[in-house]
Order: sequence, then C-alpha cells, then structure tokens
Amino acid sequence: MKMQICNKQLKCDFEGCKNFGKYSFSTKGFVRHEIVFCEKCMREMFDCFSKELVPKAINAPFKTNKLKRRNYES
Ligand SMILES: [Zn+2]
Repeated sequence: MKMQICNKQLKCDFEGCKNFGKYSFSTKGFVRHEIVFCEKCMREMFDCFSKELVPKAINAPFKTNKLKRRNYES
C-alpha cells in the first residue's frame, strides 16, 4: 500500500466527513483508484490502529527476553 500527500481537491472518503483529503492511498483498483483521508480522520484511524497494534508489537520482544533470561538462569 502506498500513501501519498494528496494534492488534488478531493473530499475525505470517511463516512460523514466533509473535510478535504490530505492523504491518499493507492488501492490498485480494489475500491477505486485511490482513497483519500483528511488529517482528522487519519489521526482517529491511527489512534484505533495504535490501540490494536502497538501493545502487541511492544509485548513481543519482552516475551522473548524473559524466555532467554529463564533459559540462562536454569
Ligand atoms: Zn475526514
């Protein structure tokens, strides 16, 4: 997936949002050529993603570290 700063005057594709899009994503024709989101919706989406994704990404290395330490102690 490719993200670009949107130079065209396109409306944000988020349901009910009337802002102009700031970021465009190339979907390679999956929905249509590209989808566009404004800064506000991007932030809201990023908040949602970070709640889902970041804790897992942070937890993963700790688990392996704990495992390594346990192996070293025994
Ligand atoms: Zn928006």
